[in-house]
Amino acid sequence: MALVDHDLWLDPLTVRERAFVSHAHADHARRHRLAVMTPDTLALLPRHRRPHRARLLELGEAAELGAATVSLHDAGHMLGSAQLLVEHEGHRLLYTGDLKLRRPGGAPETPVPRADVLVIESTYGRPGFRFPDPDSVVGEIARWCHQLLERETTPVLLAHALGKAQELMRALAPYHLRFALDPRCVPFARAYEAAGLNLPDWEELDGQEGAAAPRARGAAEGRVVLAPPAGKRAIRRLERRRVALVSGWAQAPHFWRVFGADCAFPLSDHCDFFDLIEVAERSGAAKVYTVHGFAQELAHQLRRRGIEAHPLHLSEQLSLPV
Ligand SMILES: [Zn+2]
Repeated sequence: MALVDHDLWLDPLTVRERAFVSHAHADHARRHRLAVMTPDTLALLPRHRRPHRARLLELGEAAELGAATVSLHDAGHMLGSAQLLVEHEGHRLLYTGDLKLRRPGGAPETPVPRADVLVIESTYGRPGFRFPDPDSVVGEIARWCHQLLERETTPVLLAHALGKAQELMRALAPYHLRFALDPRCVPFARAYEAAGLNLPDWEELDGQEGAAAPRARGAAEGRVVLAPPAGKRAIRRLERRRVALVSGWAQAPHFWRVFGADCAFPLSDHCDFFDLIEVAERSGAAKVYTVHGFAQELAHQLRRRGIEAHPLHLSEQLSLPV
């Protein structure tokens, strides 16, 4: 979608002249001519998805962009993720990108800047999605891992290679677990460490075929394996294992069984439905647009609470007084 008056696209799916890239997940970054983003997001992007020119802003830093002032604010979703606040002639528009309000490990709640208009993600924008307190879920995951390790069984946690896997490691850091990472998680673990974020003890899981196979079993001994949900060749080589999907979809067994998991833990890097409602209320916005996921349903639920809200198609352009 775009702010047409400011010629600024928000996480567009095709290459644009000028775009805001909220974070480094594959569905959000293209080779735009000019992209506004945080330095951490740029560092996480592979070369083929980097913009020709980047306007890098730190969190909390404001800059002029055409006639508007833009500033980026922590989105709590992953390293580098940011919300965008656009201000023009006294009007404020906030675009959340992917957003996580309540974080584990005593991290402060993600701030929600005040705005007149809010564009909010609606990945879990349906009342059935209520996630438990993240710290209690992290505690359950840690107990599950320790119990399996005592029985000489390898715990395998399935989480997205970029962001989710590293955030999970950081959340589990107080529980004295050691990790073996699927090779696809490794470059992003290095990127987190390069950004100054400490990760608990990890090494790469050796999932090679043939002569290296015995090491595949040895590498995971005493360690928790972390891997993306899809494509688990390295994991199938582990002899005694239990597999858990870590996802907001944990309440939907049909979903996690697709990934070959034995169980699931409801820990997400997104807001649940009730957090989304809270974000909309805290922003103070008189008008809300919902994007991604259950956009229709979230807009409907917001309207029931007296907030003017409309679902927005990704290709839509917003002509707003900002
Ligand atoms: Zn994301």
